[in-house]
Amino acid sequence: MSTTAFRRIAEQREAPPEKDPTRCAAYGCKCRSSVNLGGSGWACFAHAFAQSDQWPSITRGLESHDWLLGLVAEVRNLERNGKAWREFAMRFWEQSDRRCQPHPAESAGPYCDRMLLELLYRIGQRKSAPSPRIPKPVKPSGRFARESLNPMKEAA
Ligand SMILES: [Zn+2]
Repeated sequence: MSTTAFRRIAEQREAPPEKDPTRCAAYGCKCRSSVNLGGSGWACFAHAFAQSDQWPSITRGLESHDWLLGLVAEVRNLERNGKAWREFAMRFWEQSDRRCQPHPAESAGPYCDRMLLELLYRIGQRKSAPSPRIPKPVKPSGRFARESLNPMKEAA
């Protein structure tokens, strides 16, 4: 066997066990990583922007709010399969926190993002409760603007 081959085997033995790159770098966190920390791996939405001394308490917060992560996963799943995610989310909060129900103009992606921010708010990692991000109404322009200023003319 050549030296190169020996060296390759030795290197393989020394290599640390491969870390799952899709998992958050915070110890015990079961969330998927989505943010590159640069150098120290990847972390989930909750751990990535917090000081590392906060990490253990965030991990506990995520564990106690697994039901909220479950809601987000279910909404994404229903939406992907063309099913009624909005009705599901409306019913989910009906008896508890109606503020967390989807806004009529809120689509599934922004709603899921809001629910993750809601989780951060509930575990004390965010000062204020997030509000729905809804598209701004489009201002009519040109012919449509004139018609909307003078609706009676159209009817006459
Ligand atoms: Zn995490």
